[in-house]
Amino acid sequence: MMQRSMSDSHAVMEPSAADVAAARAEAAYLGLALGDALGATVEFMTPREIQAQHGCHRTIRGGGWLKLKPGAVTDDTTMALALGDAILAANGIDARAIGESFDAWMRAKPVDIGNTVRRGIIEFRRTGRLAAPPSEHDAGNGACMRVLPVALATLGQPENAVRTACRVQAHLTHNNPLSDAGTETIVLMVQDALHGADRDVLIRHRLQPLVAAFPLFDPAGKREENPSGFIKDTLRAVFQALLDTDSFETCLINVVNRGGDADTTGAIAGMLAGALYGPSSLPEPWLAALDPDARRACAVQSRALLAQACSNTTGKL
Ligand code: MN
Ligand code: MN
Repeated sequence: MMQRSMSDSHAVMEPSAADVAAARAEAAYLGLALGDALGATVEFMTPREIQAQHGCHRTIRGGGWLKLKPGAVTDDTTMALALGDAILAANGIDARAIGESFDAWMRAKPVDIGNTVRRGIIEFRRTGRLAAPPSEHDAGNGACMRVLPVALATLGQPENAVRTACRVQAHLTHNNPLSDAGTETIVLMVQDALHGADRDVLIRHRLQPLVAAFPLFDPAGKREENPSGFIKDTLRAVFQALLDTDSFETCLINVVNRGGDADTTGAIAGMLAGALYGPSSLPEPWLAALDPDARRACAVQSRALLAQACSNTTGKL
């Protein structure tokens, strides 16, 4: 009897796989916001300029070309929240619901907005079009930076369904095979990490196939400095930072000090590293500095998206 009651209480204490995934999902969402807020200070600076002005930049302090308040986030986070709102309201990935949410987001005058994003939303507003025409010029990182809610909402679904969902949200503004391949890879990496995969698994199962199909994403070779908004430059910087470090904090410091599109490399590295290293890896001073409304919105939305994923897969995340 004694044995039995002990093992029963042990079973109650053990967190379920769904609880672990939910905690990591929240860390991924907070990681996105932390990377955005940290990187925004040095966006469009070169590594040399960052070094001269900040030494090693490792404090969430606002400023930058957007003259942000300390802890403020930018379009990377607010557009993800707009995407997540649409997924929650429609109980799934619905292009029109997402387009309307992006339109409302743009009307609210976000602090920054990319050219391809602006053009895509204006076309949606004018014509109701749900997918931009394929374009070799639309290989920016705008579809990737905001994609995290898709990773959370489709957790537990077959890989093909996940990839399709990625493209539905991406093509509202960016319809390009490099953007698609990079964005889908980030989503699948985040999902693997939520399921407990370590960094080596992400590299073998997700990064290596991406590089085999599109060798320009290969993180080997030249160090990515001053990465542009081109998805190839952005993701090479993120992959190099992930490979060169072994914690959330060092990964984010590594990537944002490369300068360039630093809020976006920070946001993407943040979602990946948050999912990979989990909630206890997020630096307390960074969380304390983060805009409280953004922090709350990310936490609340991550839980709601995971609950939706759970109910849509009848609990088999
Ligand atoms: Mn931004
Ligand atoms: Mn940016």
